[in-house]
Amino acid sequence: MDRTAPSPLVELSGVSRVFEEEGGERVCALDGISLDVHGGEFVCITGPSGSGKSTLMHIIGCLDRATEGGCRIAGTDVETLDDDGLAVLRRHAFGFVFQSYNLLESLSAAANVELPATYAGLRAGHRHDRARELLTTLGLGDRLDHRPTELSGGEQQRVAIARALMNGARVILADEPTGAIDTEQGAEVLDLLAALAERGHAVIVVSHDRTVASRAHRVVDLVDGRIVGDSGASRAASHGSAPETPKPQVPRRSTIPWLAAVRHGLTALRTAGLRGALTVFSVSLGTWSVLALLGLSEGVRLDIADAMVKMGANRLTVGSMTIRPGATALPPLTLADADAIAEQTANVSSVLPGMWERLPVSRSGESIDPVIVRALSEYEPRTTQNAPWSLAEGTYLSEDDRDTVAQVAVIGPTIRDRLFSPGESALGQHVEIDALPFVVKGVLARHPRQIGDGEMMWLAPNAYDWLGTVIHIPFETGADLVFGRENLNGLDILISDIERIDETAGDIRDLLFRRHGAEYDVTNEALIWTSGKKLKAIHLALFGAIGAIALCLGGMTIVAVSLAGVSQRRREIGIRRAVGARRRDITAQFVVETGVATTLGGAIGALSSFAGGSLLAQVTGAPVGFEPWFVLVALGCAIATGLGFGIVPARRAAGLKPVTALATD
Ligand code: ADP
Ligand code: MG
Repeated sequence: MDRTAPSPLVELSGVSRVFEEEGGERVCALDGISLDVHGGEFVCITGPSGSGKSTLMHIIGCLDRATEGGCRIAGTDVETLDDDGLAVLRRHAFGFVFQSYNLLESLSAAANVELPATYAGLRAGHRHDRARELLTTLGLGDRLDHRPTELSGGEQQRVAIARALMNGARVILADEPTGAIDTEQGAEVLDLLAALAERGHAVIVVSHDRTVASRAHRVVDLVDGRIVGDSGASRAASHGSAPETPKPQVPRRSTIPWLAAVRHGLTALRTAGLRGALTVFSVSLGTWSVLALLGLSEGVRLDIADAMVKMGANRLTVGSMTIRPGATALPPLTLADADAIAEQTANVSSVLPGMWERLPVSRSGESIDPVIVRALSEYEPRTTQNAPWSLAEGTYLSEDDRDTVAQVAVIGPTIRDRLFSPGESALGQHVEIDALPFVVKGVLARHPRQIGDGEMMWLAPNAYDWLGTVIHIPFETGADLVFGRENLNGLDILISDIERIDETAGDIRDLLFRRHGAEYDVTNEALIWTSGKKLKAIHLALFGAIGAIALCLGGMTIVAVSLAGVSQRRREIGIRRAVGARRRDITAQFVVETGVATTLGGAIGALSSFAGGSLLAQVTGAPVGFEPWFVLVALGCAIATGLGFGIVPARRAAGLKPVTALATD
């Protein structure tokens, strides 16, 4: 008759659980409990409130550890398992049914049932099929997509039972499963539990409900943490063998696959309501600030660069005379030098050769003192710091004049005053330069940069008087008819990228050294670029610091908001832990959720700052310069902030003990 008795699924020997209260008081919830439960048994644990029933359930279900005594589940000593090991054991060995159902409100009935299988790594297809099958068996085939709030208490409890069975639990643990539902529905739930025992599961129910006790095969009485009565292992189930346990498929490496996790993150965000909105908002604000500041700083940079071009910072000058004391005279520069520089140096946009000399000037036989005649290859007024000029009358030299080697001149106002009587127009009149006739095309303005320029203030009021006694003629005309093609006085070199000006100046110096064996001075007219560079660094540091502060504020909001979320979501975390989520699953979940929220926030921030930036630029004329890589930087910052700051709440959530997390009702 005696078959070899199968080993019990649950073996407790001398288990005690002592709670240390905060005041140092010790509560002995369980006191030396020894209990074996086999597959096929339907055990009811009863006892007055506070007798330790729930505590016993938690110990059996590995949600809590005993202070003393041994506990073996399906032959495994739980003492030997770490936290993750317990999670895996819970995942496969147990199914929990709670009085308050403990379904996740944000998930459908089917998704709730699938939850344990998600952590077990069952493939989505199998998971859906099995959940549907279980729910259909329990009479909920038409409620798959309903939310828990749309189900009656009895239905919710049946969903909870389906969830308990999802991973083929061999032990079903139910704490007051009928406590919150009416008698009729309670009877149905009991029928289900009895049927599970029939099929070989070990069913352990905690209840002080008489009807539950009457349905059970075995009643264990608890008083003050001790077993005071045990109707004995009736072993009603003749088959002691393990129930059909659909072996979970080999788990995939990651128990939270990324796509699913992101989808989950979005769902969580939607259900998080204000919390989610705050997170997204704070991150988008942070991103917005970073982008706006980057845009402004870039705009200011462009503005500065623009101003510097205007001030001549993009112009290098090489002279045939050296300013170095004691240096010997330099070989004269030639047009070939100009061509070589234009062709062989990077970052050079054009080379403007120049010649000048003091020459006699007369009109109708009447001479004045020799004046400086400049042959220039520029065709518009120049506003740079050193040699600025603008036009008062007529037109300036043109490329046409150059091509036709025209004998035309633009004269300074002082010369005009000396050669022409007041009221007489100089335009179209002839003057002789070095005895060659030239037609006056235009008259230069007097002191064009003398007033309103802070940097000039230290100069004497007549510092620009010499500009009045200058005559400009086209370069080709000067070269062919006046000065001869060799012997340039100087070269002006315009460069494209101001930031590389030092490098380019060096290149030109080297080139000229190779050509002439002498060191020429390559100078920048506006010696402001160095301070400009400094200015830019200050701008970047300033704007960067403000942006970083904005992001940090966003990050701290995330911490605050999600820490609040952790305490709000203790129950959810407890449920997930109970069905087999490991700590790292919870960490991953929270990190992904924050990640999804911050990515979304970052994207919104980037978009709005782009729109806002161009609006700002249009409305106020503020300098705003956007580069595509700003978006990457800002998004990267947002995500990094989110993950960096999100890890704190995630760890807090993962650190919650399953029982503590569940004990929130
Ligand atoms: P029951 O479920 O039978 O009503 P419990 O197992 O919930 O009883 O509680 C048993 C005893 O242990 C009670 O006195 C209770 O106050 C105490 N207890 C339970 N959980 C804790 C805890 N986390 N901290 C301190 N005391 C606890
Ligand atoms: Mg209880």
